[in-house]
Amino acid sequence: MSQNPPDLRPDIAPRPRIDAAPRPGQPTIGMVSLGCPKALVDSERILTRLRAEGYAISPDYAGADAVIVNTCGFLDSAKAESLEAIGEALSENGRVIVTGCLGAEPEFVTGAHPSVLAVTGPHQYEQVLDAVHAAVPPDPDPFVDLLPGSGVRLTPRHYSYLKISEGCNHKCRFCIIPDMRGRLVSRPAHAVIREAAKLVEAGVRELLVISQDTSAYGLDLRHVSDKGHRAHITDLARDLGRLGVWVRLHYVYPYPHVRDLIPLMAEGLILPYLDIPFQHAHPETLRRMARPAAAAKTLEEIAAWRRDCPEIALRSTFIVGYPGETEAEFQTLLDWLEEAQLDRVGCFQYENVAGAQSNDLPGHVPSEVKQERWDRFMEKAQAISEAKLTARVGQRLEVLVDDVDEDGIATCRTKADAPEIDGCLFIDEGTGGLAPGDLVTVEVDEAGEYDLWGRRI
Ligand code: SF4
Repeated sequence: MSQNPPDLRPDIAPRPRIDAAPRPGQPTIGMVSLGCPKALVDSERILTRLRAEGYAISPDYAGADAVIVNTCGFLDSAKAESLEAIGEALSENGRVIVTGCLGAEPEFVTGAHPSVLAVTGPHQYEQVLDAVHAAVPPDPDPFVDLLPGSGVRLTPRHYSYLKISEGCNHKCRFCIIPDMRGRLVSRPAHAVIREAAKLVEAGVRELLVISQDTSAYGLDLRHVSDKGHRAHITDLARDLGRLGVWVRLHYVYPYPHVRDLIPLMAEGLILPYLDIPFQHAHPETLRRMARPAAAAKTLEEIAAWRRDCPEIALRSTFIVGYPGETEAEFQTLLDWLEEAQLDRVGCFQYENVAGAQSNDLPGHVPSEVKQERWDRFMEKAQAISEAKLTARVGQRLEVLVDDVDEDGIATCRTKADAPEIDGCLFIDEGTGGLAPGDLVTVEVDEAGEYDLWGRRI
């Protein structure tokens, strides 16, 4: 369970580390990637295309002929961070192309930074490449610019995000993603499977399925079958599971058909892990958010999932201090959490976002009340996490190695831990011969609030 600072998104992604040595005279581009894993996937696609066209990628401003800043515009704080990053790139390099969510509001960017070379919106890969071509003409060398079949990835080699769709058909009042990213557009299932198979061939051991609304996948395609693969989340999850690596589902909106995924988890085809943002538990708060799912029903669903797959780990995110949230509504959420016993929880204090409908709702909650509710929520969440992890002591678990440091300490993850947002399992001794991407069995011998320790068996 991660204790997110209230001003960060739960899915905030690590800054990319780019290692590449350009040949003399090779056109070179830098990339600053802000925001969530979905934005990170966009950055990877842009870099893949640039590498394919013969550009080198610079890990610093000084070595780049121009810099792309892939921005985030989810919260006002994220917009401010994006503007700051653009300013830094301008002062360090001077030639800056802006893309990503903030690019949906070009005048907002150019108002603050009139000297940027170009502003393009989210997923406008062609426009980004056009802007790069104009700023730094390509100079391909067919003998050296060979691209690995899996493309350029900014995540460690043994796990990779896999984006299955863009956009969202919901209209949650606190969210402006549908305005920035548009309605749901799913990738054909065969294209997703082909990309996943290439990643597995290239050594990826874990696929992290992401989108704005994973359970809606294929709705816009009427769930058609094409080249042997049906565009429906249950079929896609099964097909991905057959690739023989860990498959983890993120951003699963709580639709009733989510229950069809549970048997795949029980069979071991996909990981017994569900990242499902409930946001709140009180029916009135959910109604004001324009979210579905009556709280009582959600508890029934959770009980049914656990009955069918006892191993399942549930991660969710919540907003406290939403406009109009009364103490009684908040208490309902706390009671619900006590009953739901979720494994991983992220919690955010409500924040206005320019353009969100919730800004105009009556009854905004004072910031000290939001903070107090957040503290109470996280205290309960932490106690649940600690008790759940303590119960794991003595169990034997399969873990995936993420890193082995120079002191021989291996940082690993269990099936219940997604990278960056959940906990870790550490092995302190006997890690000789282990490398990132290895799967090993451990016995858990110690538990903390969010992490575990174990020994190899
Ligand atoms: S489902 Fe998610 S992306 Fe879609 S509107 Fe709601 S919060 Fe935003």
